Order: sequence, then structure tokens, then C-alpha cells
Amino acid sequence: MKPVPPEVIALLVCPVCRAEFAHDERWWRCLACRAKYPVVDGVPVLTPEARRPIVEDR
Ligand SMILES: [Zn+2]
Repeated sequence: MKPVPPEVIALLVCPVCRAEFAHDERWWRCLACRAKYPVVDGVPVLTPEARRPIVEDR
């Protein structure tokens, strides 16, 4: 699985508030609403269904 290209990452926004993300290998975190989205097999799942509140972060 190739990593997501930077030019694609630049186009991706939070589906809830359309803000940009900070991301690592496991989670993408919205910089505005602070929700996080799981990365599954190298692909970020950026759907409202996959959205997790930041309070679950540990
Ligand atoms: Zn957001």
C-alpha cells in the first residue's frame, strides 16, 4: 500500500467542518473540531460514521 500522496492529503478536509487535518500512521485529527478518524490499511476513513470524539484519545 502506497502512502497517500501529499497533493491528495492537501485536498482532504474534515467531512464535518471542512478543516484541515494533522495526521500520523493511525489517526487523522481535525484541527478545528478535534475529532479523529481511523487509518485502515493505510487509507484514512474520513466519514462521519468513522469519526471519533477527541476525548477517546489516550
Ligand atoms: Zn472537523
